[in-house]
Amino acid sequence: MTKENNLFSEEPHFYADVCQYVDQAAKYSNHDVGLLNQIKACNSVYRFQFPIRRGNSFEIIHAWRVEHSHHMSPTKGGIRYSDMVNEDEVMALAALMTYKCAIVNVPFGGAKGGIKINPKDYTVAELENITRRYTVELIKKNFIGPGIDVPAPDYGSGEREMSWIADTYLTMNPGSLDALACVTGKPIALHGIAGRKEATGRGVAFAVRECVSFADDMKALGLQAGVANKKIIVQGLGNVGYNAAKYLIEFGAILVGLCEYEGAIYNENGLDLEDVVKHRKETGSILGYSKATKEFKDSGEGLEQACDILVPAALENQITDANVRRIQAKIIGEGANGPTTPTAAATFLENGGIIIPDMYANAGGVTVSYFEWLKNLSHVAFGRMDRRYDETTSANIVKIIESTTGTSLSPEQRLLVSKGASELELVNSGLEDTMIRSYHEIRELKMTKNVESLRTAAFVLAVDKIAVSYMNMGIWP
Ligand code: NAD
Repeated sequence: MTKENNLFSEEPHFYADVCQYVDQAAKYSNHDVGLLNQIKACNSVYRFQFPIRRGNSFEIIHAWRVEHSHHMSPTKGGIRYSDMVNEDEVMALAALMTYKCAIVNVPFGGAKGGIKINPKDYTVAELENITRRYTVELIKKNFIGPGIDVPAPDYGSGEREMSWIADTYLTMNPGSLDALACVTGKPIALHGIAGRKEATGRGVAFAVRECVSFADDMKALGLQAGVANKKIIVQGLGNVGYNAAKYLIEFGAILVGLCEYEGAIYNENGLDLEDVVKHRKETGSILGYSKATKEFKDSGEGLEQACDILVPAALENQITDANVRRIQAKIIGEGANGPTTPTAAATFLENGGIIIPDMYANAGGVTVSYFEWLKNLSHVAFGRMDRRYDETTSANIVKIIESTTGTSLSPEQRLLVSKGASELELVNSGLEDTMIRSYHEIRELKMTKNVESLRTAAFVLAVDKIAVSYMNMGIWP
């Protein structure tokens, strides 16, 4: 079997790694072994293939949808478009979604999809054809629907693909009022939600900010508390990486390194993110950027440069036994799913580092997807009913205070006090609150149960919550 035709990874271990994390976490609780096995298992694995016409011939497209856990409905998870995707990977990512949703209290089970193509090799018309056919296959087997399974973007897919999915589902479910809630990450014009596109990266930035806000934890790493002036390297200039970098810079971090598949660039005094993006758009590569002081054709070398925080936001298995000892960062903020292998993570922690685990750090996307799903089900944008009412009420309060105290607010101050919240502000506030609360919950559990890592603590938390759901359903005594 050629590598291209291999539908399973050559060494399937990602799903086993995720299960191993659950086993590790189970040591801190007292759950029935059968219940733990049920929690770990992938409930439904749908592997399928369909033909598409390319020129004068046909090509077979291999695809998956895995629903890991039905302890909550619907299930939820992105669709990955990648020629490296395989069944083991989709199962692992679906499982991670279950634990992720539990951690941030989003009432979904986990799922994931995969289409084994490199989107760069296909025209837009071909991608549309593949996406619509993929959706039809899901509809045929009841693997999609607002109350069944709700896909979202992932590596290689975005708003465009989500709108094709929504349109296909809508076409095949005429008259279904909630049809648009069948997928999230849609463009605003197709009832998406403000702030979804940047939500995962923004959430990563909140996660890192929360982590570095604990002075004691930072002291142990020889760092000051706070994001300000922390040097960061980001791998992947896609949706998650770009937005994580953007918001961390907004919080005061200095972006010293960027790694893409074509290579990496570095400048210890800082890189201008937008300028690098512009350079890449013009030249097709981050390499050759004139303000970089170092550049590496081997992208992996970029990860090993001096910095405080490394944000891998591309793919899994980027920090491994082969390079972990050369990683100079003291904190890894996992934007991607599974970027650090378990043994590499153990080495990094032994050397005194902190890993902010993927299933918490990149949960911003599913959190805001949840808000989008709620918006689609309620058929009204957040803030539409109460924004003006709130503004009028606040303005009246200001007027009364001004008249009784004889003071007068400036127009800017008045706006600050009386402005009603927009959908974007509400979404960002919900996202920020979720990321802060969840970090505190994970860290507190780590401290109280003396758990070895934030990842294990996050799994303990997730498994406990899922176990409670099963018990509430009466499935387990
Ligand atoms: P994306 O396709 O928008 O971006 C990925 C970027 O990584 C691309 O720019 C690509 O060129 C780059 N890349 C690929 N291989 C690389 C390599 N070897 N070295 C450096 N860069 C490389 O994908 P995304 O949506 O940003 O997803 C990235 C990761 O985040 C994935 O692991 C995904 O599962 C995870 N994630 C995404 C979301 C989301 O909302 N998009 C949510 C949660 C988790």
